[in-house]
Amino acid sequence: MNSFLPRIEISLSQIQENTQILSKLYMGKGISLMGVTKAVLGDPSIAKAMIQGGVEFIADSRIENIIKMKNAGISTPFVLLRTPPSQAESIIQNADISLNTEMETLKRLSYHANAQNKIHKVIIMVELGDLREGILLCNLSEFVRQTLSLVNIKIIGIGCNLACYGGVKPDEKNMHELSELVDSLEKEFQIDLKIVSGGNSANYEWFKSSQNIGRINNLRLGESILLGHETVGRKVIPDLHVSAFQLIAEVIESKKKPSLPTGDIGQDAFGNVPGFLDQGVRQRVIIALGRQDVPVSSLKSNDKLKVIGSSSDHIILDGEYSNLEVGDEVKFTLDYGGLLATMTSPFVMKQFTN
Ligand SMILES: *Cc1c(COP(=O)(O)O)cnc(C)c1O
Repeated sequence: MNSFLPRIEISLSQIQENTQILSKLYMGKGISLMGVTKAVLGDPSIAKAMIQGGVEFIADSRIENIIKMKNAGISTPFVLLRTPPSQAESIIQNADISLNTEMETLKRLSYHANAQNKIHKVIIMVELGDLREGILLCNLSEFVRQTLSLVNIKIIGIGCNLACYGGVKPDEKNMHELSELVDSLEKEFQIDLKIVSGGNSANYEWFKSSQNIGRINNLRLGESILLGHETVGRKVIPDLHVSAFQLIAEVIESKKKPSLPTGDIGQDAFGNVPGFLDQGVRQRVIIALGRQDVPVSSLKSNDKLKVIGSSSDHIILDGEYSNLEVGDEVKFTLDYGGLLATMTSPFVMKQFTN
C-alpha cells in the first residue's frame, strides 16, 4: 500500500450525481444553477463534475481559483462571488460576471473593462436581512441608476445572500421581496434583469415549500452539491450522496493508558485547563492529523470512534472498541468547515476515487 496519508478521497461521480439531481429538481421550476467551487479551492476536476451534472455557471469567491479553472481549459461562464477593488484588472480579465455592492469597485471595474475593451456583467446584491453583503433597499434605486451610467458595465441581474452571517432563512416573504424589486427596477429603468439569484444551499426548504417562486430563476450552490444537505437545518436532501469527501488518517500510536493524567494540571497546548473523567485504563489511539489540518469538531468517524483530545498535530481517539494498530487507517466524513480546512491544508493529499 502506497497511498499518501492523510488524504481526502473525493468521488467525482458522486459529486456529478448530486449536481444532476439538484439541477433536475431546480430546473423543474426554471431555476438555473451556479456551481460554487470555493470550498474546494476551484479544483478543476470537481468543477468539471459540476458542469457535467448540469450547472450553467461556475462561481467562486476567489479570482485565483477562477484563473486555475480557466487554465485547466474550463470555458463555462465564471462568476466571482466577492469583488475586491484591488483585483479589478484581473477580474475583468478572468471573470465573466461579478457580484457587486460598492460604487467605488464598480468604477474600477468599469475603468479596466474599458481599457481591456470588454463588457463586464454584474449582478447587484441587495440586503434582505442577513446583514452580510448587499445594498440597503433605500439606496438600491440610486445605486442602479449610477451603475447604468458606467461604461462597459452591464447589469444582468440582482441577487441576495441569506443564512450566512445572520442565519436568516430564505422564505416566502424575503424571496417575494426580491421578486418585487426585480419588477420595480425593470419598470423604473426600462431594463431586463435576466438573472435573479435568490441565494445558496439554504434555499432548499423555501423552494420545496413554495407554490410560487416568483421571479427567482437562479441559485448558487456549493455545500448541497458537495455534501448532500441543505444548510438551514443541515438535513440530507433525498437521494444525494453525503460522503463524496472522506478524510483518511494514519494511526501512529495505539496503547493502553490510564484516562487520568498524572501530575499537577496547568494549561494544555491551546491555553485551556482540561478536565478529565476517570474511566480506568483504556486503549488510546493517536492519529497523524491535528488542528492544523481540521477543526476536530468537524470530524465524524465512520466507525463511531470518539475524539478525546487534540493538539496541532495529534488527535487522540478512544480506541477501546476498535482493534486499531499502528499503521492502520481511520476514516472520517466532514462538515463544511472540515471540508474547507482539509482542502486548504497542504498536508492533506487530494485523491480522486473515480
Ligand atoms: C459561498 C457562497 C455561496 C454558496 O453557498 P453554499 O452554502 O455553499 O451553497 C453562494 N453565494 C455566495 C455569495 C457565497 O459567498
